[in-house]
Amino acid sequence: MNKFIQKLSAGIIIIVIFGFINLQCSSDNNDGHGFDLKGMDKTANPTQNFYQYAVGNWVKNNPIPDEYSRWGSFSILAENNYKVLKGILENAAKNKTAKQGSNIKKIGDFFSTGMDSVKIEKLGIKPIEMELKNIASIKSRNDLINVIARGHKLNGSPIFNIYAAVDAKSSKEHIATLSQSGLGLPDKDYYLKKDKRSKETREKYVKYVSKMFTLLGYPKAEAEKNANAVMKIETRLAKASMTRVERRDPHKTYNKMSSTKIKKLTPNLDLDNYFTYLGFSTPDYFNVSQPKFFNEVNKMIKQVPIKDWRIYLTWNFINRSASYLNSDFDIANFEFYRKYLRGSKVQSARWKRVMRTINAYLGEALGQLYVEKTFPPEAKERAAKVVVNLKAAMKSRIENLDWMSDETKKQALHKLTSFGVKIGYPDKWRDYSSLDIDSESYIGNVLKGRAFAFKRNMNKLGKPVDKTEWGMTPQTVNAYYSPTRNEIVFPAAILQPPFFNQKADDAINYGAMGAVIGHEITHGFDDQGRKFDADGNLKDWWTKEDGERFDKRAQKIFDQFDSYVPIDSLHINGKLTAGENIADLGGLTVAFTAFKNTEEYKKNEKLDGFTPAQRFFFGWAQVWENNMRDQALRLRIKTDTHSPGKYRVLGPLRNMPEFWEAFNVKPGDKMRMPEDKVVKIW
Ligand SMILES: [Zn+2]
Repeated sequence: MNKFIQKLSAGIIIIVIFGFINLQCSSDNNDGHGFDLKGMDKTANPTQNFYQYAVGNWVKNNPIPDEYSRWGSFSILAENNYKVLKGILENAAKNKTAKQGSNIKKIGDFFSTGMDSVKIEKLGIKPIEMELKNIASIKSRNDLINVIARGHKLNGSPIFNIYAAVDAKSSKEHIATLSQSGLGLPDKDYYLKKDKRSKETREKYVKYVSKMFTLLGYPKAEAEKNANAVMKIETRLAKASMTRVERRDPHKTYNKMSSTKIKKLTPNLDLDNYFTYLGFSTPDYFNVSQPKFFNEVNKMIKQVPIKDWRIYLTWNFINRSASYLNSDFDIANFEFYRKYLRGSKVQSARWKRVMRTINAYLGEALGQLYVEKTFPPEAKERAAKVVVNLKAAMKSRIENLDWMSDETKKQALHKLTSFGVKIGYPDKWRDYSSLDIDSESYIGNVLKGRAFAFKRNMNKLGKPVDKTEWGMTPQTVNAYYSPTRNEIVFPAAILQPPFFNQKADDAINYGAMGAVIGHEITHGFDDQGRKFDADGNLKDWWTKEDGERFDKRAQKIFDQFDSYVPIDSLHINGKLTAGENIADLGGLTVAFTAFKNTEEYKKNEKLDGFTPAQRFFFGWAQVWENNMRDQALRLRIKTDTHSPGKYRVLGPLRNMPEFWEAFNVKPGDKMRMPEDKVVKIW
């Protein structure tokens, strides 16, 4: 399933508000009341291009810093967060009295090993030599299965992915899930498309793989041969993979099988051997997300020569380790993935990169210290109130829908009432006591962090779903909806300007955070979320006619976004981004409904020269103001389920009568969809 659905180490399936986290942020340095008036381009016409009018000068005056591939209004928010986190990390590293085994000690040691670049240079690949030798010693299919299992524990996803996930048809339980993976390029299309840019990317990729083998000490000719062997295996995996659009259909990715059946379908995978190696018993049931892919993997295990598997697994291990090793590996990895594929010009400061690593492996330990410093109980209360108002607005919108039958409405309202809401940080923090971090090596700690996360996740098999668990750390500037848990979650870090601003009026806050909350609520009712019921089960609760009416409306959104061309001749993929586009339109509509109940809206007095309704839409535009490098934009159009920021403003507003009224947009104006194309769902 995918929307931006992400599988975090916890194995929680979630839909986030931004793709590719961690590069977001905002500005409070403006002269308006929570809205940056200087960022406006008043020479533009709001009825023709509202994005340009609302934030055109911001876009012009805020070039992307060299280390980034995009820069948004909330870059300052993220940067501010980074400063808080840096203080925590440095203090932990300096703390000489921290108790052995305590979270502070672990954070401090992890940070120290990451910052000690002299030692990292000196150690080179020594800390992973044993692993590389282990891969090089594969002689039989039996060895191969063991090394793949070890790779999953330490290294993520050689060939495929395995994890415990909530069972989409029995949401109180976990199920062992097998899903496609194993590619070094961002998507299957990169291996198969015949256009010039795709061909160039493949050439650069092969060169990069070859360079990594050279760094490992292979002679040039052999390194080149190895790179081609890697490409051959990955291309075969890519061909058998589902597209991102296919993966958005939860029915397509739900294929529950008994272990007897899957063992019969994929005998060469030798699952009993696999699980024995990992110290688990083979689960009774599996969800095989992409049966065709595993059919191919089964053939490949036999057909691909063992020597090629050794090459592929070596590559996979070194590629996933590169940014934690000495600078030769680190820089080669940066040059390909960040510079060539995304357009960043220089690497981020070392402390930022180490911080992101610790976020990944000790995230809640760091998060606990972060919220103590930054998140007062009042902030949680304020956000909780807005959530209540948004849910009430959604309720009234469902009740008043003219296209839905009473029968389906009843179910929709039941689903809405059943929503779980999490704000700020978890009530129960993750227990890291069995994660042993030391001062030996940075990559060593990364491998321990991965092994801990893998084991923690796999241990969930056979146990009921823990409803208190979070799929995101509190210091993450993002939010999510989880269809299998039917819950919306807002980490502490997003409850700050420009999303949630103490100094701003309700109009700005409802247009920003209100719409974000509405967006997450709508995910429960978008083209994907609507397939899950109140208990988080994949189960159809719609009458046939209502389902068809919904699909007809959704089709209009697909078509609208298909027609946008952000760069070159690359169109936005309407089907890939459908859930997010529906959530943006629904979220804004619901937030505006809630905003209408505020005193500010009722009084209708101008502030900074604008009406409350106008300011509401400024709040939304300010969230999405951003600049992006061409390379990053191309990559995101192909892989991200979110439309580029500009279209998240223009796209939904062109469908909103509330917006037309606020800015006096007439039929025929660009900011108003022609009558027959206008879409209203929620
Ligand atoms: Zn979303």
